[in-house]
Amino acid sequence: MRKQAEWGNFRPPSPGAPEVPDAARRGVDPLPLALLKYGLNAGYRDAPQLRWQPEFKKNYDVIVIGAGGHGLATAYYLASRHGITNIAVLDKAWLGGGNTARNTTIIRANYLTPEGVAFYKESVELFRGLSEELDINIMYSERGHFTLAHTDAAMRTARWRAEVNKHLGVDSEVIDADEVGRLCPTLNMSEDVRYPILGALYHPPGALARHDAVAWGYAKGAMARGVEVHPGTEVTGILKQGNRAVGVETDRGTIYGGKIVQAVAGSSSRVSARAGFRLPIKTIPLQACVSEPVKPILDQIVVSGSLHVYISQSARGEMVMGGTTDPYGLYSSRSTFEFKEGLMAHMLELFPFMSELRVLRQWAGIADMTPDFSPVMGLTPVENYYIDAGWGTWGFKATPVCGFRMAECVATGRQPDLLRPFALDRFHNFDLVGEKGAASVGH
Ligand SMILES: Cc1cc2nc3c(=O)[nH]c(=O)nc-3n(C[C@H](O)[C@H](O)[C@H](O)COP(=O)(O)OP(=O)(O)OC[C@H]3O[C@@H](n4cnc5c(N)ncnc54)[C@H](O)[C@@H]3O)c2cc1C
Repeated sequence: MRKQAEWGNFRPPSPGAPEVPDAARRGVDPLPLALLKYGLNAGYRDAPQLRWQPEFKKNYDVIVIGAGGHGLATAYYLASRHGITNIAVLDKAWLGGGNTARNTTIIRANYLTPEGVAFYKESVELFRGLSEELDINIMYSERGHFTLAHTDAAMRTARWRAEVNKHLGVDSEVIDADEVGRLCPTLNMSEDVRYPILGALYHPPGALARHDAVAWGYAKGAMARGVEVHPGTEVTGILKQGNRAVGVETDRGTIYGGKIVQAVAGSSSRVSARAGFRLPIKTIPLQACVSEPVKPILDQIVVSGSLHVYISQSARGEMVMGGTTDPYGLYSSRSTFEFKEGLMAHMLELFPFMSELRVLRQWAGIADMTPDFSPVMGLTPVENYYIDAGWGTWGFKATPVCGFRMAECVATGRQPDLLRPFALDRFHNFDLVGEKGAASVGH
């Protein structure tokens, strides 16, 4: 795999660890040697050292509900960019164990609306420097992202997206079927199938990254600056004085906070109801699975909106596959046979070699879906209460920009320009951000 083999973000992680340039001077291939020495010498010294606080303080400047990537990133940027460190991040389960742990890690900026493209572009830029920023290898791997078009309508949308992308400085172009087949040789380009491939929206910066490392990295960086993370702590109520949030009730007691940030993904409507306002969000399970690992065979990320499937190959060799959301709302992360059966029927049309592989693992997360496929971010009708929600099936790629801009919003008490289109009041002002045409698969 091209980019992975380069290990673009690798760097010797701690003092005393081997220096790649030394090895290079001796004429030895620096990377394997550096990796070997790192494995033998550095060991786990560089692994995140996360120390839990057994007890709460009485008061915090900021309480973040949800220790997923978004909540942790917000705490990290509050501490590192705004000097606010008296923060508690609370999670009813464990660090990064929600959708952050369950997603298929596709990162891209090839959206449809100018608001969306500008927002995800900033996230991709932050992702590119994240290993350096957090001093942890998030294994950022640029693969190229193909949104296949099987109909004239899909080709039209691809052209539209490509033009918006180019206009805003995002690298995307429409390519024809021959070029798709050349760039992605494992794809079945036969015309003797239900939905022959006519072309694709090709987005070279499309990437994958290690989701756990993103969550741990933000947690490590935040905790090193004094932020507390409290797993096993469910927020059961929001304390208010008039219309101002002043604290939270948890299953471990009450805590007070100057500002409160809600970043709970699939539980968004439930938690906002405790704060006293409603969200235009439906909660729907989203499933994924991986095959047994095989040698590198698919370098690219391939998505088909018409067939409702997408696929990439992980660094471990597993084929990582997903599709559309389940057809009904539910607060459950169970897996179903129907999902797997439907997914495979379509996948085999694109990649017939998949019939040789067995599914190794299957799982689900809980997606908070908005009607316009865009997030809900920033200020809320409750004073001092901030929200980061509506991340549906597309929020991992936004983790850095969410943290960065939510931290700005909380620190200044103002909606940053980049987040203005995603304010909750757009649903009252009939000013939606129609991002549906850029959903990775049809929902
Ligand atoms: C199968 C699947 C595939 C996906 N693939 C992609 C993809 O390829 N690319 C992409 O960009 N996005 C993808 N997503 C979406 C992405 O995973 C999410 O949008 C993103 O992870 C949301 O991050 P988060 O930090 O907001 O939420 P989470 O990681 O879910 O964190 C929220 C946390 O809040 C906690 N919580 C909830 N209620 C409470 C409470 N009352 N008190 C305290 N804590 C609480 C939960 O325990 C959880 O840890 C996918 C999602 C799924 C399920």
